[in-house]
Amino acid sequence: MIRIVCPRGFPARMQGRAAGSASGAGESMRFPRRYTLLSIVPPLLFAAGCQQPAHVVKDLPEPLVGPADRPLPRREPPPVVRPSPRVEQPAEAAWIPPKGISRRWRYIVIHHSADNRSTPDGMRAWHLKKGWDGLGYHFVVGNGVGYPDGKVFVGERWTSQKHGAHARSPDYPDNRWNEHGIGICLVGNFQNTPPTSRQLDALAELVAFLCRKCNIATSQIYTHGDVDRFTACPGKLFPAAQFKRRLAAASGAPVVRAASR
Ligand SMILES: [Zn+2]
Repeated sequence: MIRIVCPRGFPARMQGRAAGSASGAGESMRFPRRYTLLSIVPPLLFAAGCQQPAHVVKDLPEPLVGPADRPLPRREPPPVVRPSPRVEQPAEAAWIPPKGISRRWRYIVIHHSADNRSTPDGMRAWHLKKGWDGLGYHFVVGNGVGYPDGKVFVGERWTSQKHGAHARSPDYPDNRWNEHGIGICLVGNFQNTPPTSRQLDALAELVAFLCRKCNIATSQIYTHGDVDRFTACPGKLFPAAQFKRRLAAASGAPVVRAASR
């Protein structure tokens, strides 16, 4: 007799048939000598192999393939972050009114619109609704939300050299800031967020141009809050010092400290 041991996992049906009992895995089995190992083991192994779950084959690792046989994994290029194109300012000629510049201008007054989504058309409609004669400012500088970032809108008041409607103050009965002040409004609420860098650049270029053309001293550049103590315009986040540095660069001359009223 030949004694063999069933491996664990050997099918119970086959074990029982081979040993003539329902003995469990690992028990000894006896075979007549005429059944040699060569005649018994291969069919048993074949039967056992058929019991293997199919997914095991799928889990086999991929065959090793040399670098030369496999193309390099394709890498996605990193995303290209392009800044939105800078808005080219119009030639200074576009800021010169058709009939030339009046000699009435003595001051420049800077405002914010108090709303990030403002547009020149929207503000004009609102001012008309309030009973004013059109957009109250002479210029508007966009912030990229409703109007392009850093783009200067030239209002009809500037085109016609008409007085402003942007800075009436009870402290000045002569209404000097409207009569003689050029009103520039930057779109945005600078109580919450500062103006964009392009807005400040555009503002500096525009103010430098106006100072030069209208012979306005840099000491006569004001914020709305400078001339009206009842307003916080253009907001606590308007960077006055930074604006002065940009103005100095735009005008090519050192900026005189802005006078307080
Ligand atoms: Zn204002």
